[in-house]
Amino acid sequence: MRTYLCICGQPVFFNNSVCISCGRAVGFDPVSRDMRELDMTGEEGVLQQALVPAPQKRSLFRRAPKAPAPPLYRFCGNLHTCGCNWLLPADTDPAALCPSCVTTRVIPDLSLTGNSERWIRLETAKRRLLFTLLDLGLWGPNAPVQPVLPMTFDFLQNLPGQPAVLTGHVNGVITLNVEEADDALREKTRLEMREPYRSLLGHFRHESGHYYWEILIRGTPWIEEYRALFGDESSDYAAALQNNYTQGPPPGWEENHISAYAASHPWEDWAETWAHWLHMRDTLETAEAAQCQSNIVQPKIDAALLCEEGQTPTPEMQAFCDRISRWVALTTLVNELTRSMGQPDAYPFVCGGQVLKKLYFIDRVISSVK
Ligand SMILES: [Zn+2]
Ligand SMILES: [Zn+2]
Ligand SMILES: [Zn+2]
Repeated sequence: MRTYLCICGQPVFFNNSVCISCGRAVGFDPVSRDMRELDMTGEEGVLQQALVPAPQKRSLFRRAPKAPAPPLYRFCGNLHTCGCNWLLPADTDPAALCPSCVTTRVIPDLSLTGNSERWIRLETAKRRLLFTLLDLGLWGPNAPVQPVLPMTFDFLQNLPGQPAVLTGHVNGVITLNVEEADDALREKTRLEMREPYRSLLGHFRHESGHYYWEILIRGTPWIEEYRALFGDESSDYAAALQNNYTQGPPPGWEENHISAYAASHPWEDWAETWAHWLHMRDTLETAEAAQCQSNIVQPKIDAALLCEEGQTPTPEMQAFCDRISRWVALTTLVNELTRSMGQPDAYPFVCGGQVLKKLYFIDRVISSVK
C-alpha cells in the first residue's frame, strides 16, 4: 500500500475520506488508482477535484499547471453508511455505489446491535483486498481477466434456528460470517482452532484464492503443475476438512505447507498460499514505498531451491528469491519490534523449501495475467 501526502504536508492514508490535519475531503479513485484531494464546490454533494497527483512514483499532490478542467467526482453512496471513501464520476446517480461496494450482495442486518461497526470493518478489509487485485490486473472494469461470474460477497450471520453460516466460496460468491468482524469472537475462534494468525483481511485474501483458482487454474495449462506441487484436488474435500477438524494436521506439515490448515486439502493449500502471497505483496510494497529498510542482514536465498533436478536457475527465479530475502529481513525486523512492545510475533510463519516453490508458482500465474 502506498502512502500519500496531502497538500498541507501531512500524510493521508488509503482509508481516509478527510485529511485529519487540514480537513480537506480526500478519496480513492479506482480508475486512476490514486488518492484524490477534493474541494467542496458546485451543487450539494458534488465534489470537484482541486489537485492532481504529481507524476513522481510516490504520489505527492500539487496544483496542476495549466491543467484542463479537472474531472468532477462524488463520493460513493456508502460514504455515510459504511465509511467508503471511493470516488465516482460526479455525473453518476447520487446514490450510486462504487465498484467495491457493488460487489456486496448481502450486507449485515443493520437493525442488530454492533452490525454497523462490523459492516464498516468488513468493507474496509474488502477494499484493501480489491485495491491489490486492481493493481495486479485481476479485478476491475479494465482488468485483462473478466470472469463470467464476477466476484460477489454475502455478509451473513448465525441466527437462532438457522444453519450455521460458514465462511467460504461457491460459484463466485464469497460468504463471510459477520462474527469474523468482531475482534473478541474472532480471537475466541482463533484460540479454539489453535491458529497463530486469524484476521479479517486474511479471510478475504484466502477466499479470493478459491475464487481465482477457478479462473486461473481450473481447465487451464497450469493445472498439471498445480497438481504436482499442491496435490490432486479431486480428493474428497468434505472428508479432508472433517479429518482436519477431528485429527488436526499431519505431523511435519511445516515441511510442505505455509500453515497447518493448508495441509488439509490441495484447494486449502492453494488458498492459504495465495493469501500469503498477497500478505507479502502488500506489506513489502508498504515498506518499500515508505523507504523502510531493515538493517537486519538479509539471508541469501539461492534460486537453486526452486529448481528441479538438472534445471538451471533463471534470472526470474533469482529475482523472486531476492524479493523473499527482503521479505525475511523485513518480517524479522517487524517481529523484533513487536517483541520489544511485548506483543506476539506479527509474522508467525516460516517459508520452507516446498512453500517457496508454491509461492513462486503463484507469482508466475499472477504475472502471466498482465
Ligand atoms: Zn491536509
Ligand atoms: Zn463504496
Ligand atoms: Zn478455504
